[in-house]
Amino acid sequence: MKIPFLDLHANYCEVKREIDDAVGRVIADSGFIGGKYIKCFEEQFAAFHDVSCCIGVGNGTDAIEIALEALGLPSGSEVIVPANTFIATAEAVTRCGHRVVFCDCEPDTYTLSATDAESRITSKTSAIIPVHLYGQPCDMKNVIDLARKHNLRVIEDCAQAHAAEFNGRKIGIFGDIAAFSFYPGKNLGAFGDAGAIVTNDVNLAKKCRMIANHGRTEKYIHEFVGRNSRLDGIQAAILSVKLKYLEKWTSLRRDSALAYRRLLSETDIVLPVEHECCRHVYHLFVVQLENRENVSEILKTKGIETGVHYPMPLHLQPAYAELGYCNGDFPVAEGLAQRVLSLPIYPEISQEQIIYVSEELIKAVSKQLSLHVAEGSEI
Ligand SMILES: *Cc1c(COP(=O)(O)O)cnc(C)c1O
Repeated sequence: MKIPFLDLHANYCEVKREIDDAVGRVIADSGFIGGKYIKCFEEQFAAFHDVSCCIGVGNGTDAIEIALEALGLPSGSEVIVPANTFIATAEAVTRCGHRVVFCDCEPDTYTLSATDAESRITSKTSAIIPVHLYGQPCDMKNVIDLARKHNLRVIEDCAQAHAAEFNGRKIGIFGDIAAFSFYPGKNLGAFGDAGAIVTNDVNLAKKCRMIANHGRTEKYIHEFVGRNSRLDGIQAAILSVKLKYLEKWTSLRRDSALAYRRLLSETDIVLPVEHECCRHVYHLFVVQLENRENVSEILKTKGIETGVHYPMPLHLQPAYAELGYCNGDFPVAEGLAQRVLSLPIYPEISQEQIIYVSEELIKAVSKQLSLHVAEGSEI
């Protein structure tokens, strides 16, 4: 059986007629840049989060960067970022001219550890970026308590966690401002690059909109040096269609996660945790196991695609060598990088496919185990 890691085509087929109509309308109206399609999606996405402001931008990386810039942190600021995230979270900090300070993550949820973050706070620390990694909400109570205590601004990186909830409320509303990505493979994905910022702070929102639109106040009046980062009309119209299905698709992802959980529960494979206070939305279903590379190779021969998110923590990346971190600085994140494996998960994956992946995974893991025993090495 062939099981792709992601099946964007199956997702498109489900809503093909509506999407094609929506795209056709934008083209017929030449509503490519600015205008009603963008405004409509921004309103819908703000309402979805019960916040007052949403600003569509070009992609998720820009969303974080623009949100940070809008906060106007003092120059020389340090911004705390988990070591185990996609590089975009840190890039935004560096691009804004601030210093990235990495912190470790929690061993059970893999999200930022507020305790570890606190130990890295200095007089220059002015913000923190919790990432709701893999769809797992970060413990926002701890983050907000920490932020209040040390007077930090909070930017939520929600790129992997559309519709996730913490204490019954959607993520993206806990910090000062939040950034979303609509990269095609994300839980709410466009048909190209797209992103958004949400906030309840009207002034921050206004600033973000200006930054993303050349620092404009009027057509050819520019108050400061901004940039161009736009959500375009076609993407906005597609997102408006797909947003209606997000709840349904999220619960299908959660059903699939539950199926994996049942099928893999009697093994040594470490499964994602679900705490009562959180609604995990399973952008990724990430397990931990030994001999990850061999296991993923075996699965590949069985037609099963897997992923690794991420094989190298950010503090060890060449791009951040100048910060002077070394191996051993973030043991939890480093351990994860060695052991994580992402299994196929998407709304359209069938029970049959999940059973197949689980059975082949169990076989592959026990094969590794018996190889080790045969070699007489320690397990
Ligand atoms: C995808 C992603 C981003 C960046 O989003 P783009 O739209 O690809 O720029 C940022 N942070 C995290 C955690 C992501 O997964």
